[in-house]
Amino acid sequence: MTTMLLQSPLAGWVLPLAEVPDPVFAQRMAGDGVAIDATGNMLHAPCDGEIVPMQAAKHAITIRTPGGHDILMHVGIDTVQLAGAGFESLVQPGAKVKSGQALLRFDLDLIARRAKSAVTPILLTSEGEILRRCESRLVCVGDFLLELAAVPGTSAVHSAATGPAHHLSRFFAVPFDHGLHARPAAQVAAALRPFGATVTLVSRGRTGNAKSTVATMSLGIHCGEVIEAKAVGSDAAAALAALAGLLAPVSGPTHTLSAAAKLRETSDTPARIDAVVASRGAAVGIAVQLAEPEMAVVEQGVGLAHENAALQAAVGAVRARLQRLADTAMGEQQTILAAHVELIQDPELADRAETWLARGKSAGYAWRESVRSTIDALKELGDARMLERVADFRDLENQVLRALAGNDPDAVRTLPDRAILLADEILPSQLVALDKRRIAGICTARGGPTSHVAIIAAALGIPALVAAGPRVLAVDDGTALILDADHGVLYLAPTEAERAAMEHKLATRAARHVADVAAAQPDSESADRVRIKVYANLGGLAEAAHAIANGAEGCGLLRSEFLFLERHAPPDEDEQWREYQGIATALGKRPLTIRTLDIGGDKPIPYLPLPREDNPALGLRGLRTSLWQPALLRTQLRAILRVTPLDQCRILLPMVTDLDDIRTVQRIIDELRRELGIEKGPSLGAMIETPASALLADQLLREVDFLSIGTNDLSQYTLAMDRGHPELAGRLDALHPAVLRLIATAAEAANRHGKEIAVCGGLGSDTAAIPILIGLGVHEVSAVPATIPRIKRVIRSLDSMACRDLAQQALVCANANMVRALVERWTSARTPASPGVTP
Ligand code: PEP
Ligand code: MG
Repeated sequence: MTTMLLQSPLAGWVLPLAEVPDPVFAQRMAGDGVAIDATGNMLHAPCDGEIVPMQAAKHAITIRTPGGHDILMHVGIDTVQLAGAGFESLVQPGAKVKSGQALLRFDLDLIARRAKSAVTPILLTSEGEILRRCESRLVCVGDFLLELAAVPGTSAVHSAATGPAHHLSRFFAVPFDHGLHARPAAQVAAALRPFGATVTLVSRGRTGNAKSTVATMSLGIHCGEVIEAKAVGSDAAAALAALAGLLAPVSGPTHTLSAAAKLRETSDTPARIDAVVASRGAAVGIAVQLAEPEMAVVEQGVGLAHENAALQAAVGAVRARLQRLADTAMGEQQTILAAHVELIQDPELADRAETWLARGKSAGYAWRESVRSTIDALKELGDARMLERVADFRDLENQVLRALAGNDPDAVRTLPDRAILLADEILPSQLVALDKRRIAGICTARGGPTSHVAIIAAALGIPALVAAGPRVLAVDDGTALILDADHGVLYLAPTEAERAAMEHKLATRAARHVADVAAAQPDSESADRVRIKVYANLGGLAEAAHAIANGAEGCGLLRSEFLFLERHAPPDEDEQWREYQGIATALGKRPLTIRTLDIGGDKPIPYLPLPREDNPALGLRGLRTSLWQPALLRTQLRAILRVTPLDQCRILLPMVTDLDDIRTVQRIIDELRRELGIEKGPSLGAMIETPASALLADQLLREVDFLSIGTNDLSQYTLAMDRGHPELAGRLDALHPAVLRLIATAAEAANRHGKEIAVCGGLGSDTAAIPILIGLGVHEVSAVPATIPRIKRVIRSLDSMACRDLAQQALVCANANMVRALVERWTSARTPASPGVTP
């Protein structure tokens, strides 16, 4: 018998498949072989052969050897979600290649950052046997990797079933997020392997053997697509029943494609548009293009006095309307509208407009030039956050121009039900003026995830995508759409089955949310009755009622800086007191944790010009800014000390480094207490946001009553990754073991001192993190209000001792992806006994 030798296609460390962090590969469902933890960035041919065509699978290549073996090389784990980014094919499908020839170049760094793992399985996916393999050693390209036995004459994959043959057919919708890519294709093949029947999948006129991972992958079947499975053999019915365990059966023995799906197959319209998630969720609806034609303005005015009066009147009318809207809005909307009220009366804008009026230009022209030069100045700063403010100025430009043209500013555009708004950008005032009950989703060509419209959408619970590119503007009004703002995709003209699958998912999610909210009021404790407090993070008074309705047991973090942002002067003591007292009253007797002003770094305020800093994240931030300008801090502390009952309040200090910080603030509080005749001040806590404060937690605990971990900043400073850096966003994960070790240090110190320790950063709202935090000894989380019901459900399902074991395993993981994989395995091993760690 002649055997076949395969050379290593990659340089790297060879692992047994069992060590691949994915059960489909580890359990050999996709085939037998080895895996290589790559150190190079080029995949080579392991032997002479032919490239098997595979649709939309740039991350994987199959080579068919002259002896009939199919060798699948799958670069990285979960790389299908990169949708080809970071991969460059160097050969065409069907090409004949020589052993050692370069096949695929890939960006190893990108894979390491954005995929689950860069480990590359090299698998024999067809009939055959591996006689010898290289394992647990370093290889170079071309080194020996596998020896395969020759393929026997008849392939079992294509063998006819014995017994009386049944010819059956059934339609299925594909539920996998990325379609039938390698892992689900392997699961399909593994599920069918025990059956003698041949099973053929039919997708858009093409067919593939369902027992072959490669053949199924080659069909390029995407999520939600309806495919036909044809089975022939005595056990055909059982084989199709096995498929029904993986794919979603579509009712009826046959299925006709919808008109929309046919249109999509025959037209050039893209079936999907990828975008950036701005507000999570999903929606099924229809396209409504929101574009407004640019307002025309004449250049020359008819006289300075006339134009000046017209501009004043228009600006005044818009300002008054914005103020009216702000007075009735709530939460983030109110904050943004209030900011617009400030912006429209900005003296710089007025000065620039006056200069143009003085040159004889019309009111409209002067206003437009003034706004546009402000926009240009923002753009020149090159700061992503500033660029996102451009939309706010465009909004003001349009509103004043419409007022000058005499348009009714309150005219509300009628929307159809379940409108998915499409636009280049959506201006905050446009969104405010629309009937929100009819908006199912939003997708914009431009914009960023922290733009105001994104914040408003999130606060309203409307799923939103941004930065989708100009193709969204070409979508016809009325087109059926699925907006998937969990995965960042807008699907155009989906099939009936795709719509039904998404409707089903939404209904299930909504029902679960309703059940979670209904069960959210009791105080939270784990299955073994360990009390874990669940508090809410608040930005202001307007959010308090919503938080309580969602089961918040108090406020664990009031980001008081929201009261200070986007205005010309700081709020005085009375204004602050009214806000804090209002929140305390709205919370009933529940605790209110007021964080002192956390500005500087990524949160500048115009009336407090900080010295120029090369590295603002490491400069005057948080408490450091407050101690640099102690007058602001004193005013804020006085306002807090006037709240009644005072023991409802806790004071939390941001960006603490060491005991000196605490002692300085404590001295100021004591002084103010004496001034106000208060005997006992509120509890004082320190945020653990710097590695220094985590490492010195046991010292801090001598002077403070509680600790609260700000995992957003703690990750930024531990991993030395800017929290606003778009390229690093995928790697800045607070579940990184380095961050977890610091949390463990702080939690252990707090428990030793018998004092409370909370997590109020993003990790506290992350359901995957909850068991680990409990296992590390955290007794309180403070979360985004909308996530509280889900978090409480998760806590109720957990056993604190099991969490402790899990946390110990997490601490020795090598990176955040491994921690997430660990939690996922742990959770699925415990399901169904304790459902619910997943969102
Ligand atoms: C944190 O850093 O985790 C935190 C809660 O503070 P902020 O996100 O407001 O900086
Ligand atoms: Mg912080």
